[in-house]
Amino acid sequence: MLVVMNKSATTQDVADVCSAISALGYEARPMPGEQRTAIGVVGNDSRLDDSHIRGLPGVTKVIHVSAPYKQVSREWRPSRTVITLNNGVRIGGDEVVVMAGPCAVESEEKLMEVAAVVAKSGATILRGGAYKPRTSPYSFQGMGVDGLKILAKAREQYGLAVITEAIDQESADAVAEYADIIQIGARNMQNFALLKHVGGLGRPVMLKRGMSATMKEWLLAAEYILNAGNEQVILCERGIRSFDPATRNVMDITAIALAKTLTHLPIIADPAHATGRRDMVAPVARASVAVGADGVMVETHPRPNEAFSDGPQSLFPEQLQLLIAQLSQISEALGRPLAHLG
Ligand code: PEP
Ligand code: MN
Repeated sequence: MLVVMNKSATTQDVADVCSAISALGYEARPMPGEQRTAIGVVGNDSRLDDSHIRGLPGVTKVIHVSAPYKQVSREWRPSRTVITLNNGVRIGGDEVVVMAGPCAVESEEKLMEVAAVVAKSGATILRGGAYKPRTSPYSFQGMGVDGLKILAKAREQYGLAVITEAIDQESADAVAEYADIIQIGARNMQNFALLKHVGGLGRPVMLKRGMSATMKEWLLAAEYILNAGNEQVILCERGIRSFDPATRNVMDITAIALAKTLTHLPIIADPAHATGRRDMVAPVARASVAVGADGVMVETHPRPNEAFSDGPQSLFPEQLQLLIAQLSQISEALGRPLAHLG
């Protein structure tokens, strides 16, 4: 439930409404806005009786959020969430962002090589896993903190922002220390303890859609992070599992358009993990921007055939460059320029 105060409501009126909400056993979240203050009510799972609150001084209306997710819904916040990173790049605003980098940080030398390519190509955010959630325990598991230090070094050198995955609470603390965005992977989308934990770290979080997660489950997972006090959440569609093994997953293009109507959170498309095929990455990336994604995340490697993981879906450096030029044209046509480094 959302209690909307009128323009002339006083600080005391707002405080009185908050007290009334607390007295009912719920939590009040005042949200001052340019026009008026709204007070979010959290803690209820079902529709509340608003008769008492509706009559309090300064209250203009009470909105019942019909969706099961509350704080992530557009009813809760009609204006879009825009996240500004330390390098000035904004996610969810007018501009479209490109995140690119290897699947995993493999060595300092290789990461610096690829970071140079990423910066030169016009992308603004460098990706690279230091903690890898691998299907097999025998596959490369990532460089851990050493990988994070390498990413931080590349950020320093090229001015790129850094996104990297956390797989548990301990790695999340480390990622929050070294990176700009904490990535929660598909396999951890419903790791609720981890979601609550990253909700308290004060860093932007990109929440990937679970490979079998419904839209509702995905948005409720995001709700966990907002409810833990972190509103800087980005969604990422990375394909869902289907019956057809022709591609690694099925890119749910509709989910990108749908997310824009259901939530104020930014949404990024990951055509690499969705398709698993290098030749499908560019077409699906272009389609994602056309359908309204706030950005794309792609994998690239100086020598994809030698990559420790996800080589078959990693772009050659020159393919990355071409793709970014194409995305720039598509986003311009939609009135959204591509984000560039300051
Ligand atoms: C990744 O981005 O490297 C990754 C593991 O992706 P996902 O969680 O979508 O499988
Ligand atoms: Mn990967």
